Amino acid sequence: MALLELRNVYKTYKLAGNEEFVALKNINVSFDKGELVSIIGESGSGKSTLMNLIGGLDSDFDGELLYKGKNIGAFKESELVNYHKENIGFVFQSFNLIPHLNLLDNVAMAMTLSNVHAETRNKRALEVLTDMGLKDHVYKKPNQISGGQKQRVAIARALVNDPDIIIADEPTGALDAETTEQVLEIIEGISKRGKLVIMVTHSDKVAAHSSRVVTIDNGEIIGDRAGKTIEHVKEKSVEKTNRKNKNLGFFAAMRLSLLNMKEKMSRNILVSVGSSIGIMSVVLMLALGNGVTSYVTDQMNRFVNPEIIEVNNPGEAEEETESSEYGMMDGQQQNPMMNMFGGSQSFTDSDIEELAGIEHVEYVEKGFTLTAIGSNFVTYGEQEEMFMQFASTSSNLMESSLVEGEMPEEGEILITDMLANSLDEEMVGKTIDVTIVIDGQTITESFKVSGVLEGSGNIVYMPYGAIESWFNEEGIDLEPNVVFLHADDAANADAINEAVRDLGFTGSMQEAMIGMFTEMLDMLTLVLTGVAGISLVVSAIMILVVLNISVVERTKEIGVLKALGARLKDIRTIFVTEAFLLGVFGGFIGVGVSFLIGFVVNHFTNNAFDFSVVQITPTFALAGIIISVVISMLASFLPANKAAKLDPVESLRRE
Ligand code: ADP
Ligand code: MG
Repeated sequence: MALLELRNVYKTYKLAGNEEFVALKNINVSFDKGELVSIIGESGSGKSTLMNLIGGLDSDFDGELLYKGKNIGAFKESELVNYHKENIGFVFQSFNLIPHLNLLDNVAMAMTLSNVHAETRNKRALEVLTDMGLKDHVYKKPNQISGGQKQRVAIARALVNDPDIIIADEPTGALDAETTEQVLEIIEGISKRGKLVIMVTHSDKVAAHSSRVVTIDNGEIIGDRAGKTIEHVKEKSVEKTNRKNKNLGFFAAMRLSLLNMKEKMSRNILVSVGSSIGIMSVVLMLALGNGVTSYVTDQMNRFVNPEIIEVNNPGEAEEETESSEYGMMDGQQQNPMMNMFGGSQSFTDSDIEELAGIEHVEYVEKGFTLTAIGSNFVTYGEQEEMFMQFASTSSNLMESSLVEGEMPEEGEILITDMLANSLDEEMVGKTIDVTIVIDGQTITESFKVSGVLEGSGNIVYMPYGAIESWFNEEGIDLEPNVVFLHADDAANADAINEAVRDLGFTGSMQEAMIGMFTEMLDMLTLVLTGVAGISLVVSAIMILVVLNISVVERTKEIGVLKALGARLKDIRTIFVTEAFLLGVFGGFIGVGVSFLIGFVVNHFTNNAFDFSVVQITPTFALAGIIISVVISMLASFLPANKAAKLDPVESLRRE
């Protein structure tokens, strides 16, 4: 059986407008081991077309093309891939070396595509390069060597897997006379070792080296004559390094991508920086939200004892509090925030009994808050100052919040530093008059300032009992409109809060405010994240465009890889890996810059408010990198597919 046999082979190219062009007609020829065949014929006669069929780069033909009796035209992808890897080696007129890889990597490529271990493949590649007299150049890039050397590298690459057939399409077409001679000697040497070499040439001088000359004209074989005799030497047996059905490995793909990216360093840096902007916005948004939320919670918690649950009464229609006694004059006395939450109504004794009955509540502390604008004021000497809130002191007021002085007792008041500052620097120990409007009555009394409390807004505090006795003197009944439940353990606070809600009461105003605040913040974060999302889309498009450019630039390389036995999947892997790396770089740059910006911003906010507004957690950093990688990889699917689907014949033809 012949090594290679063509039976009634026709190749028809489909042209635009249903036209057809028959490039090969009724080809019947067979080739054997050890032959050095020259195919000659005029330009356009069909020589390259024939080589592409034999090389398994084009399976779209009629007739049969038998390799060791098996029809190549009917091969499955995996069989074809193995044919490329194991049985056939290509040498091209224009060398088609991969420019960003050194000679060793170029020659080892077929093995890299089979996931052969680096050590093994480099050893084998070095062996073949040494045979070609290139031992001293293996770490050079293709553009650092001469044309003759390039063609020797290409031959080494074709030989590295010890195939049975070498096809060479005008291998000396780009070489001068002297190097042509060298290359022909090498090619002759290959056939001497028992391989079938099929070489296309126009040159009679080149054809004179071969053992057989086949002439093609107009797609038909018109001549087939014997040439000089080739003396065969005993074939050196080469250990096969390929493992069948192996794909390009992840790390090998990564290395190939890195080598390619290094070649276009500045472009890749620009893309990474560009895509990092989206990542940076996402990370900073999250970190800002986190920082502000924790600041708010922190501020609130500083004044709140976790064992104490503040309860307000939203007041239901059927309750007697409809005609509430306190501060309910058409809402005029309420501040807007109170209105928003409906204000807290009085608690009846039965309400308090109910609350006291909640599991884990040790005791109930009554409290009173009167919020009003424009009606309540304090007088100190000549000065008069409005205050917004008149409230009972409760266990919820922490002594740690005292700026100076002590908590008030009967006959004393506690005021906020804001109020104190607007009166006099030193208020502790001074006596001031407090005037409030309650139940339609204006009442005034003198009190000693026991201490000053940290806090915003003008607030006057007094013990609940003291308020009660003052009001009693004026003939007013005091009913609590806020109560504090003391939990047996802070851990039960949540359960108590739930029970409070079940009874129809609400938690503290602060809590409601925090809730509203965080909701607003969440919305803000969402909007900002949307903005970040847009920049992410932009970076995805950028990566898509760059990879598309990369595919176009590397069209020839893709053709070479396919000729060497790359699967669709391998080509796809190369591009997706490149996108993956771009994503990783972009992610790291984005996160790095976020940390930097955070550092600078925090420096200022720390000076101003004593807290870090940008709080980047490891989770955010990780999320940033993952988002970056995922987006890049998503963006790479189209270009990677486009690359994988390129027709090898067309990509190799491209100049
Ligand atoms: P050679 O290598 O002998 O110069 P080719 O095999 O490249 O010739 O081409 C043979 C003929 O087929 C030429 O006339 C060429 O124009 C035509 N041909 C080659 N490739 C295509 C193609 N993809 N589509 C249409 N015609 C083609
Ligand atoms: Mg040609």
